Amino acid sequence: MGNLMTRELIRLSKSSIGNEEINAVTRVLEKEYLGMGEEVQQFENALSRFFGREAVCVVNGTAALQLALEAAGIGQGDEVLVQSLTYVASFQAITAAGATPIACEISQQTLTIDLNDAKAKLTPKVKAIMPVHYGGGVGDLSEIYSFAKENKLRVIEDAAHAFGSIYNLEKVGGIGDIACFSFDGIKNITSGEGGCIVTNDQNILRKVKDLRLLGVERDTEKRYSGLRSWEFDVKEQGWRCHMSNIMAAIGIEQLKKIEKISSIRQKIAKKYDSILGSVSGVRLLENDYSYVVPHIYVVMLEDASKRKKIREKLECIGIQTGIHYQPNHKLSYFYNETNKHLPVTDDIYSRLISLPLHLDIQEDDIEYICEELIRVLNE
Ligand SMILES: *Cc1c(COP(=O)(O)O)cnc(C)c1O
Repeated sequence: MGNLMTRELIRLSKSSIGNEEINAVTRVLEKEYLGMGEEVQQFENALSRFFGREAVCVVNGTAALQLALEAAGIGQGDEVLVQSLTYVASFQAITAAGATPIACEISQQTLTIDLNDAKAKLTPKVKAIMPVHYGGGVGDLSEIYSFAKENKLRVIEDAAHAFGSIYNLEKVGGIGDIACFSFDGIKNITSGEGGCIVTNDQNILRKVKDLRLLGVERDTEKRYSGLRSWEFDVKEQGWRCHMSNIMAAIGIEQLKKIEKISSIRQKIAKKYDSILGSVSGVRLLENDYSYVVPHIYVVMLEDASKRKKIREKLECIGIQTGIHYQPNHKLSYFYNETNKHLPVTDDIYSRLISLPLHLDIQEDDIEYICEELIRVLNE
């Protein structure tokens, strides 16, 4: 154990695909119906059973967010409150819908949106809040909903990290206004690329179904009965954002394994927590991994100036690490006078390191990673 010569590179993240997924894709290829049809419908039905309400699949998580915003009527002239510390997908989805992201601070404990800062940034133009479930945790989600209700805001949850997580004994996505998930290759479950929108709002569901198919009205029903629309009307801008049967076939098999996948990811995060919880020099997210299914495992260094060296040294001995994420208000496209002052986010960003988390990480890998992290910390 710990032998540099025999240890393989420990990747930060990776997909985990079994024969079930491979066989399912082969079946779709052999049927020679690759577009959106039976498998996509089956995947949507399975997701709807999982969440207890309807899910609509799209080509990726970013499209899920964009189409959800558009279906909610949010666009030009509207503002959306969102934390700056998120993948650029959240911000790009908002601008793609024509709206303006208002970059907010994060809570120090969970790195989810700081509701006080969001409240301070409320203007009459704000039409929605997009809580990002950073690392799988949802922060003060019920307080976010109270705030949204008081101010008549839509809530579009960026739940890309949180597939399988439980909040207040309910599945994330199973309650609330609109939740958007990603099934990209390294998310909690994958369909290769993919995403879905989950809501009870029939109006949103109907609109998203049209928007994903170039705005062709009711094309979804046609495709699910093996037909095409030859004569139709289009009344609005739509996008080419539907899911293919190949992707859905992978997603169906992944969803069948969700309990196993969740428990492995939770076990890894708990093991990291148990070793690193008492280590000085690092601070951990305050997530309860009996409920949160983590997409990433993040530590915050007390001494930000050590980050570069730590990451280099770990990389040298075959341990990949990451930084989730560069704050969006620092990016040229989103930087502006209103967005620029986010001291908490800037400070936390400088301390972040993500440690390897995927289904093939073994207990002794975690021990090795922690040992090495502690060693480099103390150098
Ligand atoms: C992955 C991710 C998305 C977008 O999902 P894609 O499927 O990659 O388009 C959105 N938000 C966050 C926070 C993500 O991590």
